Amino acid sequence: MAKKKTIRTIPQERTPMREQDPVERAKNFEEVACGYHPDDAMRESERCLMCPDQPCISGCPVGIDIPGFIKKIGEKDLRGAYDILTETSLLPAICGRVCPQENQCEGVCTVGETLEPVAIGRLERFVGDMAIAQGWANIPYIEPNRFKVGIVGSGPAGMACAADMAKAGCDVTVYEAFHLPGGVLRYGIPDFRPAQHRDRRRDREPRKAWRQVRMQHAGRPPVHDRADDYRAGL
Ligand code: SF4
Repeated sequence: MAKKKTIRTIPQERTPMREQDPVERAKNFEEVACGYHPDDAMRESERCLMCPDQPCISGCPVGIDIPGFIKKIGEKDLRGAYDILTETSLLPAICGRVCPQENQCEGVCTVGETLEPVAIGRLERFVGDMAIAQGWANIPYIEPNRFKVGIVGSGPAGMACAADMAKAGCDVTVYEAFHLPGGVLRYGIPDFRPAQHRDRRRDREPRKAWRQVRMQHAGRPPVHDRADDYRAGL
């Protein structure tokens, strides 16, 4: 039987994430943080105490089963970790990068009361990136219904809503004023955070569900003139 972990027996230091050399990164717009190597992720997963009250879950806005996906990493079952993440999150590779974890899941992590908290965001990013590299996606069978949904804006809220509505079988139209979808993910985050060229292929869940979704330029006629076309809108 595995020995019970305690705050004294887990790795005391948070596993650092490799970064581009400053001399190199001064010459490019690539992402500065390079992400975890599998060995880094395994080590960091050992720092989770699997505490029974799991405050990290209530600290996550979408209630991800954080100890569940971390346990799967520790078991080297990365597909299992991805399956748990995508039960409640469409964008693990993005959320692992841009969520303010220090104020959410990591801010209430039990380990953080004594040491640096478990690097939940880095682990989420690791699994999200692995899913992209491996081509994983969890898209359920979609039974079309007769509801039409209009969504104004293709930023994170619009994308998440479009994907959920498409999965529910709705006929979705997303209106976007700019040339490319993504909103703040594409136009509001500098390249050296989630590099734009990678962003385009990141997180397959909404992109696959996106096949059910039409993009339209939100120019003319004005979007509000088309409101009656839809059963619901965002
Ligand atoms: S609060 Fe921290 S240590 Fe406890 S289950 Fe969540 S991630 Fe693990």
